[in-house]
Amino acid sequence: MDIIQLLPDSIANQIAAGEVIQRPASAVKELLENAVDAGATEIKLIINDAGKALIQVIDNGKGMSVTDARMSFERHATSKIQKIDDLFHIKTMGFRGEALASIAAVAQVELKTRREEEELGIYLEIENSAVVKQEPCATPKGTNISMKNLFFNVPARRNFLKSNVAELRHIVEEFIRVSMAFPAIYFSLTSNGQEMLHLEAGSLKQRVVQALGNNLQSQLVAVKDETDYINISGFIGKPDVSKKTRGDQYIFVNSRFIKSAYLNHAIAGAFSELIPKENFPLYVLFIDIDPTQLDINVHPTKQEIKFEDEKIIYAFVKAAVKHALAQASVAPSLDFSL
Ligand code: ADP
Ligand code: MG
Repeated sequence: MDIIQLLPDSIANQIAAGEVIQRPASAVKELLENAVDAGATEIKLIINDAGKALIQVIDNGKGMSVTDARMSFERHATSKIQKIDDLFHIKTMGFRGEALASIAAVAQVELKTRREEEELGIYLEIENSAVVKQEPCATPKGTNISMKNLFFNVPARRNFLKSNVAELRHIVEEFIRVSMAFPAIYFSLTSNGQEMLHLEAGSLKQRVVQALGNNLQSQLVAVKDETDYINISGFIGKPDVSKKTRGDQYIFVNSRFIKSAYLNHAIAGAFSELIPKENFPLYVLFIDIDPTQLDINVHPTKQEIKFEDEKIIYAFVKAAVKHALAQASVAPSLDFSL
């Protein structure tokens, strides 16, 4: 007797969701990135119960047509890539077409969306990956998506969630990562009815100060270096604002927040003589590089990337930070030694 069968979509989506949506903060990241990709200039995040009860993102981006709105919840459904070659020229935050499908598999979703050229928008309700309600609705231009009761249908995962304090900390972390990369966009975060963060559109310096603390106003040193191959820009904190805990360390590659112990090491090396050994420097650095020189598709959350030539990047980043420290006269002399 044959025993193999295809899994129903709802189960396949739930399994896939395990990789993309690990906790409320992962859903927050995906929804904020979708709003950024939609060209929004204002993005509001509303959460209740640290995202366990509600995560809502309201944007004023380009919205979706009725067909696209339904389609957006299918797995591998994306408007961002079409062919394999596109994978190497990605300019958007998303491209895997998995986030909304994953979210719809593990939460109750309500979507309102309208394109500018349409008079009425569309309202959709989705549960267990299926549309359970659809009707036209009046709604501002853009997209308003709510996900309620995350993991309501996967009790084992719900039980794995940490305390509200811990989950909220993860959410704020993701919120700051995304908002830092797009200072020209207004972002707000409201938790249980109270506005926690309110970031006006402005310069990167203003965003860093708003997000990480007013005390930084006079403590930031600009970093800027360019070659044909790679650019770096952003800010480092003067040695005085280094801390005993790792925390305010942000590296973005082509606007995407990444985790890289290797590059953290390069930057720490540039600071080495200037701060106590046990301290961590503060930095918000943006590396821009030809997308063919990297692979961001290493992990579903896209926080790990592979560089074509890691050593060159390491040397370049370290030299740029040393250069900035020297120019700001916080380092004794220009020293490009690696
Ligand atoms: P991806 O972002 O990888 O394409 P998602 O599952 O996150 O995949 O979204 C699927 C598609 O739905 C997107 O490609 C986009 O066309 C559309 N979409 C999602 N969120 C929004 C939004 N806030 N505004 C407009 N379109 C959106
Ligand atoms: Mg997306």
